[in-house]
Amino acid sequence: MSWRGLAPASAGEALDLERRHHSFWGPHKQFVAFFVSSGRFVNWVGNTQSEEDWLAESWSARGERDEVLALFADWHPQVRGLIAATESVYQWALFDRPPLSSWTRGRVTLLGDAAHPMLPYMAQGASQSIEDACALARCLTVHRHAPAAGIEAYAAGRMDRTARVQGASREASRTVRLMDPAEVEARNARLRESPEAPIARFDWIWSHDEVGAKTLEPVRSLLGSLNHVSITVRDLDDAMRFFGPFLAFLGYDLVESLRDPNGQRLHVNANRHNGAVLNVWEAKPELAAHPFEVYEVGLHHIAFNTDTREQVDEACALVTRLGARVLDGPADFPYDPQGWYAVYFLGPDGLKFEVVHQPSKVRAWRAKR
Ligand SMILES: Cc1cc2nc3c(=O)[nH]c(=O)nc-3n(C[C@H](O)[C@H](O)[C@H](O)COP(=O)(O)OP(=O)(O)OC[C@H]3O[C@@H](n4cnc5c(N)ncnc54)[C@H](O)[C@@H]3O)c2cc1C
Repeated sequence: MSWRGLAPASAGEALDLERRHHSFWGPHKQFVAFFVSSGRFVNWVGNTQSEEDWLAESWSARGERDEVLALFADWHPQVRGLIAATESVYQWALFDRPPLSSWTRGRVTLLGDAAHPMLPYMAQGASQSIEDACALARCLTVHRHAPAAGIEAYAAGRMDRTARVQGASREASRTVRLMDPAEVEARNARLRESPEAPIARFDWIWSHDEVGAKTLEPVRSLLGSLNHVSITVRDLDDAMRFFGPFLAFLGYDLVESLRDPNGQRLHVNANRHNGAVLNVWEAKPELAAHPFEVYEVGLHHIAFNTDTREQVDEACALVTRLGARVLDGPADFPYDPQGWYAVYFLGPDGLKFEVVHQPSKVRAWRAKR
């Protein structure tokens, strides 16, 4: 259940509420507050859990201020003060459902809440709806002569991302309302040690660029083109905590999550700027006996280009936040007389990567366009 209200800014000021996002976490409950409307009001949301089902589907159901005050009776004075200063309190039921297996039937497809209702703990319902709209418009433009293909490309491009955001919202709903004292202590210790870690972990949500995304057009010739690069990791979900934000930074979108006939899971990531495909596979121990030995020592490292030097620094900061160990750089290296600025690091499972800016390559690429 969600309770919401707008307190006058004077109440927030009297309570010394700073002008930033505030989130209070407690057993079974969470309270969020921030100034809105050019600082005229403080918007607050109290999420609670009750034994009784309250299923009203309404955006304007009124709640009782005294009931909310009782629910947050022993909470921080700022929480109680904001509720007490609010004239009208509204009440929402929170609904969630697992990702759908299909959004499209014939010429009709879904977007927004109809396609992927999610809990509000990542504040992503409207954001994902806007991204959907942007993707649908782009796909229908690219496939203007075959709208069905446009709808298909839209759904294929959006379903994994929105399912991931639904999952993240569900996970966050638990994290902010933990009950078990040991779990609470472990969570608080993690946050004390690394307050920025959750931001880095969910960077794949905030840094996504649907406006700049490109619907991949058919390849002109397959001869000699690189099909894909495959990386095999021990734990796919764990590795994606690194690869998600890192590949998103490099312009890759997660376009498909598959399970091959052997039961092995893989994520297909396509680069929206240049069409390069990079698969991240989950290793299965029994496949190590397969005659084609994918685990053989061979490839030295995978290198990604950047357009600018600054992007090398940004990549370094990002992967460091994500837990990578930097081996060398960011620095100028003597491999190219015209300049070579790079960082080398170890990602999950000891995989070696390089992110490099080569001015000569950027100039040649620009000249070809
Ligand atoms: C209080 C509150 C706070 C929120 N805060 C955030 C936030 O901070 N960040 C965020 O990203 N998201 C937030 N959300 C979620 C966000 O509002 C929704 O995810 C988003 O509005 C979904 O957009 P939509 O277009 O899919 O659906 P809706 O906005 O629900 O639009 C559907 C429209 O269809 C109309 N409709 C329904 N049936 C019919 C019919 N038969 N014929 C014609 N029209 C019909 C409805 O009247 C409605 O106008 C919040 C939601 C609430 C309730």
